[in-house]
Amino acid sequence: MARIALNHVTKEYSGANIVAVDDVSLEIEDGEFLVLVGPSGCGKSTTLRTVAGLEDATEGDVSIGQTRVNGLEPRDRDIAMVFQNYALYPHMNVRENIGFGLRLATDMSKGEIEERVEEAAGLLEITDLLEKKPKALSGGQQQRVALGRAIVREPQAFLFDEPLSNLDAKLRKQMRTEIARIQEQLSVTSIYVTHDQEEAMTMGDRIAVMNDGKLQQVGRPNGVYNHPANLFVAGFIGSPSMNTITAEVTEDNGDVELRSTEREALTYALPAEVGDDLDLTPGDTVTIGVRPEDVRVAVSPNAFDSQSHETTVDVVEPLGSDNLLYLALGETTWTARVPPSFEPPTNETAYLSFPPEALHLFDERGETVKSRVLTDPSTSTRMTAVETDRSQSEARR
Ligand code: ADP
Repeated sequence: MARIALNHVTKEYSGANIVAVDDVSLEIEDGEFLVLVGPSGCGKSTTLRTVAGLEDATEGDVSIGQTRVNGLEPRDRDIAMVFQNYALYPHMNVRENIGFGLRLATDMSKGEIEERVEEAAGLLEITDLLEKKPKALSGGQQQRVALGRAIVREPQAFLFDEPLSNLDAKLRKQMRTEIARIQEQLSVTSIYVTHDQEEAMTMGDRIAVMNDGKLQQVGRPNGVYNHPANLFVAGFIGSPSMNTITAEVTEDNGDVELRSTEREALTYALPAEVGDDLDLTPGDTVTIGVRPEDVRVAVSPNAFDSQSHETTVDVVEPLGSDNLLYLALGETTWTARVPPSFEPPTNETAYLSFPPEALHLFDERGETVKSRVLTDPSTSTRMTAVETDRSQSEARR
């Protein structure tokens, strides 16, 4: 097992004039599970393929363990890849499929190979399928066999490239947990590529968010969710997405106000204890961001302690555990996650409110100026999200 490091890695496809990976530096600790996440085309697979040796970095270094691996063939890097297309050999049974790589590329004895296959099959809970041919297996079982092929190699690192995208939603969730469990048990350093932010949040020890070839933020899932480094990460991580509206900073009797630039959808007076800590100047343009779970909604404007803003309820979407309300605010639509018992009439006026602790603010370049502060309901003490992350990680131990 080994640490993996990317040091200022750039990959340019010069023929196509595309910089797929743009100066990415990233360290994955020994035994860590890191998820690379971002929209389609942002450079995740190319980054992974550069680690695997399927692409050569145009600039920068890739190391696995103590070895700089630039120029080394994939087979000499001691890694195992798991793809979305598992390409099992149809004429071989599961046992032969899992052991094939070892028979081909090592001088291990038949007995040793057999032992490793049995062990991997046990871990994957597919011992009873060992004599079956791939065509007799479900998609999820085939993916387990593909995982088995990677596991028996006992590589220094697993590289996963969207391995679950062919599976249906329910099976995907099941396999996520399964892969996370196996990775934790084997403690093999892993990089996992997905475009699915929920997959990233639930699986990664840390997640690395990419956009347009560039690394945007690396951190623990909750840290990234609560303290997104910029507007891109804020919008990409979390579903439904963070609500946003652009606003101009104004001043009213010495108090800072944020006035939305779209019609007069919203004016938000920042309490002095919040506004004073921020470097805002009248005339600045900012983006206000609020997570759907932080938006409160009522049919009366007097229902809140804090200021309320008029809106119209466009749609009520029941999820069973919650209702999602889609609310018209200027030219934007905001989403609120509310209890299932609250179902305001559609096409009628309602009022929304959010406390200053919930507020995210981004500057004109989209960089974070302020992020939310969480309140721990069990103690009623205010905790910053970073402290919350720490206490959650301690609780897990
Ligand atoms: P992701 O995995 O995030 O979807 P990729 O790493 O596959 O993104 O691709 C990043 C960018 O590089 C995209 O614009 C893609 O079109 C481009 N790209 C990927 N592979 C090649 C290639 N072999 N030749 C030219 N351009 C490529």
